[in-house]
Amino acid sequence: MEIKIERTKNPKAKPDQKNLGFGHIFTDHMFVMNYTEGKGWHDARVVPFENLSLSPAAMVFHYGQEMFEGLKAYKGEDGRARLFRPEMNAKRTNASNERLCIPKIPEEDFVEAVRTVVSVDKDWIPTEKGTSLYIRPFIIATDAFLGVAPSKTYMFIIILSPSGAYYESGLAPVGIWIEDEYVRAVRGGMGFAKTGGNYAASLIAQVKAHDDGYSQVLWLDGVERKYIEEVGAMNIFFKIDGKIVTPMLNGSILPGITRNSVITLCKEWGYEVEERKVSVDELLEAQKSGKLEECFGTGTAAVISPVGKLRYKDDVMVISGGEIGPVSARIYDEITGIQGGTKEDKLGWIT
Ligand code: PMP
Repeated sequence: MEIKIERTKNPKAKPDQKNLGFGHIFTDHMFVMNYTEGKGWHDARVVPFENLSLSPAAMVFHYGQEMFEGLKAYKGEDGRARLFRPEMNAKRTNASNERLCIPKIPEEDFVEAVRTVVSVDKDWIPTEKGTSLYIRPFIIATDAFLGVAPSKTYMFIIILSPSGAYYESGLAPVGIWIEDEYVRAVRGGMGFAKTGGNYAASLIAQVKAHDDGYSQVLWLDGVERKYIEEVGAMNIFFKIDGKIVTPMLNGSILPGITRNSVITLCKEWGYEVEERKVSVDELLEAQKSGKLEECFGTGTAAVISPVGKLRYKDDVMVISGGEIGPVSARIYDEITGIQGGTKEDKLGWIT
């Protein structure tokens, strides 16, 4: 794939690394590529970051035919920029595309697009501890047409956003709300795809959880509301009676790249790992008998989010005494060490 590069004539001032927050600041450039039926993906380019011009009839605005990804570039103490398993994001992009009738992108082109735009803006990768450059690839349907059908034209865009340390003062446990009224996704639906509609469906419960002082929602299955699925933007793991347990990929949850990495590491460390159905009742019972030893979320944003408190209806389960469990801490150190270049990349996860 040939990528044309047009550099900005008006570079912006770099932000204060102590105050990055998440998702507000954008770099000088973006990657853009178009798709036209009959022609395929074409005109790959890096251009100055700018607003888009689209017809108000563009299909993405009406029927939500879009997908997105999320990954990060890290700059280690050695000054080198690292991507963590970007080929997994390329694979997941095509799984989302298939579900949404969006044309696929060759995996190597996806990774090359990410590499190229990140290297053009590499000076934007922050270096303070815990900071990173968040990478947001996405595809939108651009036909100006109000009929419900797959679009014949698309744009694939990658924007970059320097982001602050998720944990300002070290790894900290969060409170999670198990949602018993609304559901996020059902089997046969789009739960396994990374598409805006899934997140639109999640907002109402998130508002409810926040109002009650919980930081994120844990979703139950869409049929019986009995089995654990995943958190708003994380997969979920439990340590029950010495075993690492996580809900299996059943079509309605997102196959997280951190989830996959955690399973791999835990198996390597000798833990028995079970991917299976996990019911709320099982958790409540394990909690009562003292076998619910740890609970943590996994995702690109925080890597690991230890869960100190799980609320379900009138029950509040306090886990690991509200502290950080040893497995959570070990995984966090290992993965952030690989990402920062201070731990050996034995599994070839770094680009
Ligand atoms: N589930 C959902 C719904 C998410 O949005 C995310 C974040 N991408 C995850 C799980 C975790 O996925 P990953 O480890 O690839 O970031």
